[in-house]
Amino acid sequence: MAGSSQLNLDESTVRSVVEEVLRNLTRSGGVPIEAPTPSPNRCGRNSRRFGVFEDAAEASRAALDAFHQLKEKGIAGRLKVVEIIKGLCDEKAEEWGRLEFEETRIGRLDHKVEKLQIVKLVPGVEWLKPYGLSGDHGITLEEYTPYGVVGAITPVTHSIPTLSGNVVNIVAAGNAVVFNPHPNGAGCAAVAVRTFNEAIHRELGIENLICAVEKPTLDSFDALCKAPEVSILCVTGGPAVVEAAMKSGKRAICAGPGNPPVLVDDTADIDKAARNIIEGGSYDNNLLCVGEKEIFVLDNVADRFIRAMRLAGAVQLNDGQLARLTAEAFTDSKDAGGCSHPVLNRDLVGKDATDLARIAGATAPAGTDMLFAETDANHPYVMEEQMMPMVPVIRVRSVEEGIELAKKAEHGYRHSSIIHTLNVNHMTAMARALDSTLFIKNGPCTAGLGLGGEGYLSYSIATTTGEGITNPKTFTRTRRCVMVDNLRIY
Ligand code: NAD
Repeated sequence: MAGSSQLNLDESTVRSVVEEVLRNLTRSGGVPIEAPTPSPNRCGRNSRRFGVFEDAAEASRAALDAFHQLKEKGIAGRLKVVEIIKGLCDEKAEEWGRLEFEETRIGRLDHKVEKLQIVKLVPGVEWLKPYGLSGDHGITLEEYTPYGVVGAITPVTHSIPTLSGNVVNIVAAGNAVVFNPHPNGAGCAAVAVRTFNEAIHRELGIENLICAVEKPTLDSFDALCKAPEVSILCVTGGPAVVEAAMKSGKRAICAGPGNPPVLVDDTADIDKAARNIIEGGSYDNNLLCVGEKEIFVLDNVADRFIRAMRLAGAVQLNDGQLARLTAEAFTDSKDAGGCSHPVLNRDLVGKDATDLARIAGATAPAGTDMLFAETDANHPYVMEEQMMPMVPVIRVRSVEEGIELAKKAEHGYRHSSIIHTLNVNHMTAMARALDSTLFIKNGPCTAGLGLGGEGYLSYSIATTTGEGITNPKTFTRTRRCVMVDNLRIY
């Protein structure tokens, strides 16, 4: 290279120069230089954090630093991170699925594994296509640019899947992220975060692109919301955390609660409707926020539908069995106004259908995916987001009545609703009345997430704040770049 000189030293020359320098340092009272010994931290690993922090404020600072490093790596850096996350979710699906199952003790092991294997269906960098305008006054480009650091909250129902899916979207958009996971799923979340960062560090030299609070609390949630480095929040959870995030003063993308109703009318393929309801509603023992939670069925096909449910493997509870299970599944509580309302017993959430049957005093053969029982429209199993593989079936006299009761049970969350019908008018009427983010016709709930229906996957469906099924664009700021009267090629 012009202007530069080259020094060719062989290995033994280099070694003797280094040894001489070390001898001189020691003689002159200097500290001998040694390779740093990794100091074990509480995890018994070396002293690098790899994204796992005790303190939300410290994690937010580290994430901001990592965001700047990611910027330097360009689009290629983001692509590499997405590839790492999807690859690790696939490779570690069995191990992490089991880890999450053993920590949370809810849902089903086979579905915990599958939820990780399908993280590859979450859209990445390819999703971000700039929007161009060209006219007499020149050229304008709108670009989807990162916020910086996203603060994210994950639910216990899908700890590593939500975290991983969020990372794909958030990093594809060029951001770093700090998670305050659900305390009951924080151990497995920390394992995934550390593994992701170790791989990212090996490939890109960035250590803390994905951060997590190791022992999350309401205080660490508060600290995350207040951290000046955090630009925006992404919350996946129930009503309390959504409300807390929306009061935080920061913009929050809220993937809130649901209670998806299903309507089955007399034009539907009844056998298929029953199979679809069992498939979607029993997935991970009904932990999915999109999962079928209560079924309204037209009276003139209700008996056929009930037979079809039994034929497809669901076990029906009688009134006494339902009463026994309900007494365990809900307790009565009085609100501030003195009105009593049912409170869900979290110990039964995500339990196997066979466990619920035992509590009900019923017998369900091993491998039973779902229980069902006939109830009235105000039953706690209808009105509460119960997250158990036990769905209530309510007879309705007309489609209009079914839609009205479905709307009431959905509580205006505008999350998800499902219809089984061949009547386009019924589809349209329910779509308009429920106004839900996902509306699935003639399929299981999972079809709404690109699993058997057209579309793409995300574990955070921003229902409360309206962004819909989150994707990389959800985590971007739109910025406009304008060239006046020039650059246009014709
Ligand atoms: P949860 O609301 O109990 O917990 C979610 C997160 O919020 C956890 O990290 C928890 O520690 C935290 N949290 C809870 N209350 C809080 C408060 N007052 N302040 C701060 N943080 C708080 O929910 P869960 O049981 O883990 O998950 C199930 C809920 O999440 C259901 O309501 C389900 O519908 C919803 N969910 C929604 C989506 C979606 O995409 N819309 C996806 C999954 C789950």
